[in-house]
Amino acid sequence: MTTRRLEAGRLIVASHNAGKVREISELLAPFGFDIVSAGTLGLAEPEETGTTFIANAELKARAAATAAKLPALADDSGLEVTALAGAPGIYSARWAGGGGGDFMAAMERVWREMAASGSADTSARFVCALSVAWPDGHVETVEGEVRGHIVFPPRGKNGFGYDPIFIADGDDKTFGEIDPAAKHAISHRTDAFRKLVARVIGRGT
Ligand code: IMP
Repeated sequence: MTTRRLEAGRLIVASHNAGKVREISELLAPFGFDIVSAGTLGLAEPEETGTTFIANAELKARAAATAAKLPALADDSGLEVTALAGAPGIYSARWAGGGGGDFMAAMERVWREMAASGSADTSARFVCALSVAWPDGHVETVEGEVRGHIVFPPRGKNGFGYDPIFIADGDDKTFGEIDPAAKHAISHRTDAFRKLVARVIGRGT
């Protein structure tokens, strides 16, 4: 099937997370979209029943595109630890429990399970799947990553989620310690956006 290009115009960002909508809007600012969030339109949030980041990004994008009858963009992201066979993976947010999330508990669990695994491999990666769906069901999906390793105890107050225990390859500071701009330059989300722009938008910067 040929790749479909996203024309300028209305684009739904299929997220109810205001911070994520803002970040995505900023990344798409150069391309002239009229961005509206799924939350603003009152669209229902589908259950994330997929078993991969890509499946979850696609089901969120498809649900919003079908409901709004407009193209929709969705993402799904998380941390994969090699010694844990890819966990927490698509359960990254859920390991921190409900509400705002207890990431200290989630980071402790990562470290505890890594110790229990008996493996000396501390390698890990952050992954971000981005999917654009159209109302007719067509979908274009890309996946970005940043590779690194896990350290414990957590270090640094920047970023969010698992940032304080993740060091990117070639660095010696965690994502919680480095400048947000330095993280954004190499992050899984930036990598995924670069791929999305090259494939689906293909204009602007
Ligand atoms: P999502 O909102 O369903 O994509 O869940 C993403 C979850 O993965 C977040 O709640 C974090 O636990 C984790 N995560 C994703 N990206 C990052 C990141 O850049 N830093 C730290 N944790 C992240």
